[in-house]
Amino acid sequence: MKKHNFSAGPCILPQEVMVKASEAVIELDDIGLSLIEISHRSKEFVAIMEEARSLALELLGLEGKGYQALFLQGGASTQFITVAYNLLESKAGYVNTGTWSDKAIKEARLFGEIIEVASSKDKNYNYIPKGYGIANDLDYLHLTSNNTIFGTQIKEFPTTQVPLVCDMSSDIFSRQLDFTKFDLIYAGAQKNMGPAGTTLIVVKEDLLGNVSRKIPSMLDYQVHIGKDSMFNTPPVFAVYVSLLTMRWLKDMGGIPTIEEINEKKANLLYSEIDLNPMFQGFAKTEDRSHMNATFTLADESVKDTFDAMWKEAGINGLNGHRSVGGYRASMYNALTLESVGVLVDVMSDLERKG
Ligand code: PMP
Repeated sequence: MKKHNFSAGPCILPQEVMVKASEAVIELDDIGLSLIEISHRSKEFVAIMEEARSLALELLGLEGKGYQALFLQGGASTQFITVAYNLLESKAGYVNTGTWSDKAIKEARLFGEIIEVASSKDKNYNYIPKGYGIANDLDYLHLTSNNTIFGTQIKEFPTTQVPLVCDMSSDIFSRQLDFTKFDLIYAGAQKNMGPAGTTLIVVKEDLLGNVSRKIPSMLDYQVHIGKDSMFNTPPVFAVYVSLLTMRWLKDMGGIPTIEEINEKKANLLYSEIDLNPMFQGFAKTEDRSHMNATFTLADESVKDTFDAMWKEAGINGLNGHRSVGGYRASMYNALTLESVGVLVDVMSDLERKG
């Protein structure tokens, strides 16, 4: 029986996507060849890449608005470097909301002055800083929309003249936002989009070409745009599975539909965390992530009992990250409300047992 998969990433993907992806490994669309043994220059794969790039923009409402979508390699971590390489001329601002922002800051410091405009490090990143000032002379402001480890999520994005760059690795395609507010968005595939191995970059083209340094081809967004995201051999399987997941999302009604489902899942789990005295939420209530819910036991002595109970219920991937401890329930797009219900039942069973 398939487990209820609350893993933080790589994580659950829609079952129908997994079936179609595995079929394509044997044979892609009756062409007599596997997806992973055809040339990336074949008409079949070129069509896959084109559809993936345009569907990403369509889902985000960015088609025809001066943006380009790329599917590159190296994970979101390579984007920490690439963003700075392409955009940082003198100084940039970063909001430090957790481990991943911290790593992005460390990489960007190799290229210029980095101003940490705000940080929630003082409280082990359990909240999102607000009301900070943003100087107008920054090359860009970098944000992390969802903090996978700490379970916080930016609900309101700052209004600024400065170009906004956002790491959306763990909440891309999960909620409606005005995506035109952002000049560059990047997201590793392995949460809401597909398997590990590719990273979606959505960039406003007029932001590029403004730094004086020479950029190595593989790190140059303009080179990748000029080659339709095929400057080198793309990660064909990861791009194909991402396309299947985006089609799945589009067929169900796109981001507005999944957002409603994600809200229901998050409300169900957070109300259990709040009402059940056996548990405590980690993140500040107003900043709680709808993707990753972090919580701890009020009484650590019941840990073994609780762990045995959720494993017995067929739940996977609930252990928290070592920087927070306790538990983390990741509720990405493909996780059903039913799976969250199973977890909530286990939590209330624990309360009944006392
Ligand atoms: N940013 C965020 C918000 C993440 O959650 C992660 C990975 N979980 C990363 C960046 C790093 O991604 P990758 O492992 O693809 O480099």
